[in-house]
Amino acid sequence: MTLDPPREIAPGVVLVDTGYVRPRLAAAYLVRGRDSAAVVETGSSASVPRILAALAAQGLAPGDVSHVVVTHVHLDHAGGAGALLRELPRARLVVHPRGARHLVDPSKLVAGTIEVYGEERFRALYGELVPVPAGRVVEAPDGFTLDLGGRPLRALDAPGHARHHFVLHDAATRGFFTGDSFGLSYRETDSAAGPFLFPTTTPVQLDPPALHATIDRMLAERPARMYLTHYGVVEGDVAAFGAALHRGLDEHVRRARAAAAGPGRHEAIRAGLEAQLLGDLARHGAPLSREEALRVFAGDLELNAQGLGVWLDSRPRG
Ligand SMILES: [Zn+2]
Repeated sequence: MTLDPPREIAPGVVLVDTGYVRPRLAAAYLVRGRDSAAVVETGSSASVPRILAALAAQGLAPGDVSHVVVTHVHLDHAGGAGALLRELPRARLVVHPRGARHLVDPSKLVAGTIEVYGEERFRALYGELVPVPAGRVVEAPDGFTLDLGGRPLRALDAPGHARHHFVLHDAATRGFFTGDSFGLSYRETDSAAGPFLFPTTTPVQLDPPALHATIDRMLAERPARMYLTHYGVVEGDVAAFGAALHRGLDEHVRRARAAAAGPGRHEAIRAGLEAQLLGDLARHGAPLSREEALRVFAGDLELNAQGLGVWLDSRPRG
């Protein structure tokens, strides 16, 4: 598979294709300040050599990295944290207070991920997880700010996709590192109308009202661009992208609620989301065939349907 070469997408922000699952599925970012650099998101342990190579290509030594930041502890974002920290002698790991202990002792995270993916797929995707030494962890509550030297990065609590999620605001480029809190936007779906945004409703802590509020909280900062983990930067009319995400999320919830209870519910939700995806892509003028679209979004449709199912089951009845 041919990965995207690392490239600077905004001043001092370098996009790194982590190679997770397929090219252009999951990103990590290097952010440069005057005194040091940060790595935002780590991919899996297998992504570590790509991140180190990108640092070297930028003329950065491992010792120049002061912070590794993960937006939340889902393993496509944080699975490589322990392995990466072993290579970066002075870096600290910045993580949401609710997520920190799961990277120090990954056993619960591993068990939960195996529940979603199965043991065999888990091993193939993530290999061995390296625990993060507790002494190198910095918990970042709402408002926590780290400074790379004239370049503050501010964490905003961002529940909705998961309760252990924050987003990171970069004042220098008026951008947010959004993790999974501003949906998905694969470059394969770009059209003359611009980027296509689609929700991500992964299990097991999906909270649609909280996710709506998190989107609005970011939009209130009037960002110029969003750095999505899946995948890359979207810029321009960010408010319009946010509106599309609000609509997409509402439609996800509507379709999940419409699925009949019983053993066929998961398949019914998945089929509903697939219909939503194909309809939205067609309206957007995305240059993909039906088959290509279903291949690009296969994992997401499955996870989104699972996440909505868990959410439906966790709601009080009546
Ligand atoms: Zn993700």
